[in-house]
Amino acid sequence: MNGLMMQQPLLISSLLVHAERHHGEQEVVSRRVEGDIHRTTYRELAARSRRVANALARLGVKSGERVATLAWNGYRHLEIYYAASGSGAVLHTLNPRLHADQVTYIAGHAEDVALFFDLTFLPLVEAVASRLTTVRNFVALTDRAHMPAASKIANLLCYEELIEAENDRFTWPSFDENQASSLCYTSGTTGNPKGVLYSHRSTLLHTFGIALPDSLDCSARDTILPVVPMFHVNAWGLPYAACMTGSKLVFPGPGLDGKSLFDLFESEGVTLSAGVPTVWQGLLAYVDAHGLKFSTMRRTVIGGSACPPAMMKAFQERFDVQVLHAWGMTEMSPVGTVAALKRKQIGASAEARFAIQAKQGRTVYGVDMKIVGADGKELPWNGETSGELMVRGPWVISHYFKNEGGDPLVEDAEGHGWFPTGDVATIDADGFMQITDRSKDVIKSGGEWIGSIDLENIAMAHPGVAMAACIAAEHRKWDERPLLIVVKRPGAEVTREELLGFYEGRIAKWWTPDDIVFVESIPLGATGKMLKNRLRDQYGKYLLEKT
Ligand code: AMP
Repeated sequence: MNGLMMQQPLLISSLLVHAERHHGEQEVVSRRVEGDIHRTTYRELAARSRRVANALARLGVKSGERVATLAWNGYRHLEIYYAASGSGAVLHTLNPRLHADQVTYIAGHAEDVALFFDLTFLPLVEAVASRLTTVRNFVALTDRAHMPAASKIANLLCYEELIEAENDRFTWPSFDENQASSLCYTSGTTGNPKGVLYSHRSTLLHTFGIALPDSLDCSARDTILPVVPMFHVNAWGLPYAACMTGSKLVFPGPGLDGKSLFDLFESEGVTLSAGVPTVWQGLLAYVDAHGLKFSTMRRTVIGGSACPPAMMKAFQERFDVQVLHAWGMTEMSPVGTVAALKRKQIGASAEARFAIQAKQGRTVYGVDMKIVGADGKELPWNGETSGELMVRGPWVISHYFKNEGGDPLVEDAEGHGWFPTGDVATIDADGFMQITDRSKDVIKSGGEWIGSIDLENIAMAHPGVAMAACIAAEHRKWDERPLLIVVKRPGAEVTREELLGFYEGRIAKWWTPDDIVFVESIPLGATGKMLKNRLRDQYGKYLLEKT
């Protein structure tokens, strides 16, 4: 017997409709690329999003087609979030920090039909435009007065002009909640970047999950400033959660330095923020140097990389800002765990509480996790035994876009598929997970992936190099940086400077290895594979020791 409740698909447009109807006066404040502070409300934002939806239709964007953005966090970006997904198209947030060749590959793979970009990224778009063969329309996210006088892009459209010409009446279509809503590529895998295709249903369920009190704890009393970019897994879902809960939203635009962030936190009364550890370093350094205090900020979510304990201490003990240490992945929409204390842990000593919060945390309802050994068998939750972390749930990936890499899931005895995260972790008896290592061969620097294999391939293309391995070396500021280990060809003369120079133009500058260690040989396994774990054991602290 079925229940007798309404059948209503979970659609992203419903978040905006809700925000307009129940929190219409709530503010959305943005620092714009043009340099000023822009203020709007959910009511106006919803009306403009409907204009954007009409504009997309006029540009011929059809249901299921990909609409790309290259943009900072701001209200225009949010309008496209809702207009693209809400009208049935797929929002594709491109990462502007990637090399032009990667942006070209990703946009081509996604078959983007339109590209909306902030003026900051005009040089990048101009560099790749002729290679983006699927893109029919390029739209600059600005008004007529700020449009570039001359651009290499033919028929470049002006966003404000485009939507000004449209009506703000648009009925959001209803469709199957399993329809694709947005697409993010991750380089946190081997091989080419892979696309993770979210659905309306997965996004809505994730939004419910992250808004919960023991999760990111969002409410109508909050002012949320996502420092995490909207091109990083949809700013961890905060642009959706803010509409669901009616929180005020503050967007920092391109101003991610300590002073710009602090000024905005204070002037807008920000209560909750979120970002990777590196941005908080800049903020804390600024606040420290000027003897400042946060007057409204109460909580900050830190994730994407492990939160250094010293940073957590500084926020909590010196600034009375609670740190929510969170872990997740692009493949998980992204939130998986948050280190929120349980009731019985509140009475523990400050030191014991701190040790719990330093873990990556316990799962948000909706995500199940387990750790397994090399034989695939589940390992005990004793806080000591570590194994590969596997997850499952309605906002966890089942396949990459276009089935790249084949079926990523591993089946258990009951036939349930689990996604192997590539992280190695312990889980304690209270369900708090702690990452102890990583089995995937990638480097995460300041919250962004660097492909070690790409760096090795470039080095190997140098005539003086016989073998090259690139490992993630610990770094005080960036958490990890690439370190290249090289065996020279017999008789070849190649210097550190020459080899580092060899990377110029071949990759984004910030991907260049921090240093090179020349060695006699690289340890190989039985199948001839480089034993990078051994290299990591030996050289993982190399950059720390050098500074
Ligand atoms: P991404 O897909 O870019 O979100 O990266 C996901 C990966 O980042 C995870 O699989 C982890 O390796 C790493 N990561 C994310 N959050 C944390 C955290 N709190 N602590 C340690 N590593 C993390």
